[in-house]
Amino acid sequence: MKDRETEQRLRREAKALLEQGKVDYIIGFETGSLKFTTTPLITKDKDSVDRLIINPFIVNNLSEYLTELKGRVGIVAKGCDNRSIVSLIQDNQVKREDVVILGVPCPGIIDLSKVEGLVGKDRDELDDVTRDGDKVVVTVDGEKKEFPASEVLFDNCLGCEFPTPQEYNILLDESSSLVADKTASRKGIETLEGMPQEQRWDFWEKEFSRCIRCYACRSICPACFCERCFVEESEPQWIAPVPRWQDNLIFQVIRNIHVAGRCTDCGECERACPVNIPLRSLTKEMYDLVDDLYHFKAGMDKEAAPLMTHYETTDPEDFIK
Ligand code: SF4
Ligand code: SF4
Ligand code: SF4
Repeated sequence: MKDRETEQRLRREAKALLEQGKVDYIIGFETGSLKFTTTPLITKDKDSVDRLIINPFIVNNLSEYLTELKGRVGIVAKGCDNRSIVSLIQDNQVKREDVVILGVPCPGIIDLSKVEGLVGKDRDELDDVTRDGDKVVVTVDGEKKEFPASEVLFDNCLGCEFPTPQEYNILLDESSSLVADKTASRKGIETLEGMPQEQRWDFWEKEFSRCIRCYACRSICPACFCERCFVEESEPQWIAPVPRWQDNLIFQVIRNIHVAGRCTDCGECERACPVNIPLRSLTKEMYDLVDDLYHFKAGMDKEAAPLMTHYETTDPEDFIK
């Protein structure tokens, strides 16, 4: 089904949910103020649902808003967002009966900075960017250029394991297929893994020296749901409030431990970072470690206990010295 048909169906379903009083809010996407962007739409108004859109730029993980809203919510969810919702249910942050999941099988989200790099133009200079099966078609100065989707999707989308929501009330389209070759998704991580330890340490020192501790990575992350974060504690004070690189690094190391088994590799923390620190090199590494060591993937089963709240006698323990 094309995006336009999915969008029409979404609007019909969302309107019906509000009219029938089955939900208090709808959370979805509407057109953003900048070219080729979308922005979250949170509404109680049945006429506003005509602003809902589905296109290759619906990037936000909307599950982030669920813990903020009171009442029943109809939420548009791609594969990774869907797993974040399930993970929040597992952590008792959201009740399954309070969400109506409008699942969107997801073919991957276009990373405009990759498009800009390939065509050598700023996004404002592009006439159009559309998805056509395995290709992305970019129109510049009236001329069409085609790129394989694998060159212009976000890195996390290139490695996506579950693009089609598994837990939903309404599935708005047929299943979406995966990008077959996932090597590009881990390229940055593998470069880091190939570095000698000292060089890797220097790399992160340089990266975290640029962190301004804005906490955008924390704010956007659905797995970071604590009302009070350890960074705000003063007794004991785990890290200094000023953004020294060492404290910035500790912030991310502890954040990664806290989201282990909750992170769905939605890529939002890295995308939100205003200074482009490659945070996914840490979160995806932790995601893979959790999978390799504990055979656990976040948000796969709403009845399963969260990773950090249970153990198996067969769990590896050779890291305890
Ligand atoms: S990670 Fe998967 S489900 Fe999430 S936006 Fe990318 S392709 Fe879609
Ligand atoms: S979003 Fe980037 S700059 Fe802001 S706190 Fe996180 S790592 Fe630091
Ligand atoms: S840590 Fe980053 S990639 Fe993982 S769930 Fe949070 S925002 Fe998404």
